Amino acid sequence: MIQDIYPHQYHNEYHPHEPQDTDYVLTYKENTVLLKEDYSFFCVSELNTKENLLYLFEIDDKTFYLGDVSHLSYTSVKIRDLRNLSNQVISFASLTGWQLYNWMKENTYCGCCGSKMENDPKERAMRCPSCNHIVYPRLNPAVIVAVINDKDELLVTKYAHSTYKQYALVAGFAEIGETIEETVKREVKEETGIEVDSITYYKSQPWSLSGSLLFGFWAKVKDSSAITLDENELSLARWITREELKNHLPSPIALTGDMMMKYVKGEHNQ
Ligand SMILES: [Zn+2]
Repeated sequence: MIQDIYPHQYHNEYHPHEPQDTDYVLTYKENTVLLKEDYSFFCVSELNTKENLLYLFEIDDKTFYLGDVSHLSYTSVKIRDLRNLSNQVISFASLTGWQLYNWMKENTYCGCCGSKMENDPKERAMRCPSCNHIVYPRLNPAVIVAVINDKDELLVTKYAHSTYKQYALVAGFAEIGETIEETVKREVKEETGIEVDSITYYKSQPWSLSGSLLFGFWAKVKDSSAITLDENELSLARWITREELKNHLPSPIALTGDMMMKYVKGEHNQ
């Protein structure tokens, strides 16, 4: 999946420090990231100044900063195309930086008093110097649910209003006041009319395109209720066999593709 960059290692600890020449600079312009023409990262040494660089995170022994390389010769890559790059470190770092960039941009001004916010020196937070209001990076918890029926078929969907045209799984954001297991039950019921139980947690995935932390679950149909499609959200919801899905698997870069692969291999009950 997109966060699996082994043998490289992502470090999320917050240790802002003086930028080194060999550290990397990420620049975002509208819905693109600016990379070198060979699709590698710009280095700090290529900038005229080390000022105004904002600490983001580290991968291995390199630190990533938010900065401006737009005076250099660059290629711009659309954020939504980043997941298709063959170099997963470039994809993952650029997407994670994009999420932090948006968080800082959206919190330029304090939501309580309107003053200019500042990056906190001690933790990954934006702090208002006037009223001390503090904002941490926002994550939107969401679920991906693989529902299995008594014939061992998988419930697949297609989105009604999305450029993504392949088979998907039931998915949706957690609402305030519910547990993540309740999100699973509610989303499956809302989108397909089906009631589920035997809900089992599988694994999670950071998904910067929607600012989400995705939680993957397996679930079983509670009764033999028929599918009732939520046409506002979906264009299709149906049961599919392992044999048929085998020829329609989406990329394993996303949790949905990973879970479908598990189902096709018959490994979802382990
Ligand atoms: Zn304030």
